[in-house]
Amino acid sequence: MKELEDLWKIILEKLELSVSNVSFVMWIKPLKIIDYTENKTLVLSTKSTFAKNQLLRGYFDKIKNVAREVFGEDLEIDVLDPQEEEAYLKNNRPKTKVVDSEDQKNPFDPEFTFDNFVVGKCNQYVYAAARAVAENPGRKINPLFIYGGVGLGKTHLLHSIGNYIREYKPNLKIKYVTCEQFTNDYIESLSTSAKMKTNSEFRSKYRNLDVLMVDDIQFIAKKISTQEEFFHTFNELQQNGKQIIICSDRHPKEIETLEDRLRSRMLMGLIQDLQSPDLETRIAILRKKCQLEKYSFDDEAINYIAERVESDIRELKGMLFKAYSLSSLLGKKTVDIFDAREAFSDKNDEKNEGGSSAEQIIEAVCNYFNISKSDITGKKKNKEIVEPRMIAIYLINEMLEMPLVSIGKLFGGRDHTTIMHARDKIGTESKTNKKTQTIINEIKKVLKSV
Ligand code: ADP
Ligand code: MG
Repeated sequence: MKELEDLWKIILEKLELSVSNVSFVMWIKPLKIIDYTENKTLVLSTKSTFAKNQLLRGYFDKIKNVAREVFGEDLEIDVLDPQEEEAYLKNNRPKTKVVDSEDQKNPFDPEFTFDNFVVGKCNQYVYAAARAVAENPGRKINPLFIYGGVGLGKTHLLHSIGNYIREYKPNLKIKYVTCEQFTNDYIESLSTSAKMKTNSEFRSKYRNLDVLMVDDIQFIAKKISTQEEFFHTFNELQQNGKQIIICSDRHPKEIETLEDRLRSRMLMGLIQDLQSPDLETRIAILRKKCQLEKYSFDDEAINYIAERVESDIRELKGMLFKAYSLSSLLGKKTVDIFDAREAFSDKNDEKNEGGSSAEQIIEAVCNYFNISKSDITGKKKNKEIVEPRMIAIYLINEMLEMPLVSIGKLFGGRDHTTIMHARDKIGTESKTNKKTQTIINEIKKVLKSV
């Protein structure tokens, strides 16, 4: 693999000279080399289907030509999106093993640092705990158990701790593993012929650490032996004042496969949860990312994205990247609301089949309730007007994905928090209240037929 990686590096260097800087950073640099098969196919993986399509459309021939130069012979190139990559790795055992993080100089993603982690109400305690652990490993909080939903920053925090310790306490032995890696490592140590030797190798690898981080512990299988090994590793490290940090998508009490004695060990430390980011934090995260990547976005575009992706920060950043890519395809310098909208267009199309405009939605709501347009957009506060107004706001937001601030303007300059309140109220009722559901469906039916 080393050799192949080196060749790939040369290919990259050549490509960097032959495409624009933006194209290189966006489409080519993120490529990962997965395999080089016997029938001379170079298998590459991309970060998304979108990236794959971009690459096939614009750079495929270039890559092929440069690869031919470097390898000195013709070769096929296969580009996979993440799902295809997963399937590929399942069905093929790449001749060349993807580099083990231990072989690398720094197993931690240099982008996942404390500095790049945006702190808000949703994560301030977890952040403080992670920092305390990084600054004083093994002393203050042990173990630290972090849990929270997908894309909320668990792995980012583990890597931040890793990066910090590598920088400020380079003598400490630190290891980051996913639960799966730990299990595989352990099973491998058992199945090798020289059982005794490798098993003790496994032990010394894990039990001589200063800091052990285990990510996604919820995947711990109900395999007694793995749990037992983990239990002993855990005890030994903890007794010796070594730091343990664990992440999971749920509280230890809710991991069904976790053995009781291991659960009680985890409950001995500090357990902190990461919550979904509020709107301000989401905006701050997007701004930070723009700053890091040197993207230029206008405020409206940032708000549009922040309002639409409410929980998963990975998706939030993904949509930012998508809007940026679309914008730069058109050669624009600054990403605006049109690019942001386009990035969400697959989602919007489904919701607004009839292609209604905000005016048509308002008109349909007014007709349904038999009220006037000036009432619905005006100041009246009686129930007969307020309810239709909230429904119109909800529908415009849901069907057109229009930013709250812009909706506020349509409704006589109302504040975006008022609009948000209306949207959320009807959003909840549309799931829980039969009457509201019927009204919304009736109005949507009318809109579809316009
Ligand atoms: P998890 O492990 O909880 O599923 P990750 O740590 O992989 O989530 O985070 C997903 C993405 O979101 C990463 O790109 C990460 O950098 C980013 N992210 C999460 N939380 C924050 C934050 N508070 N500030 C900046 N980026 C964040
Ligand atoms: Mg993770």
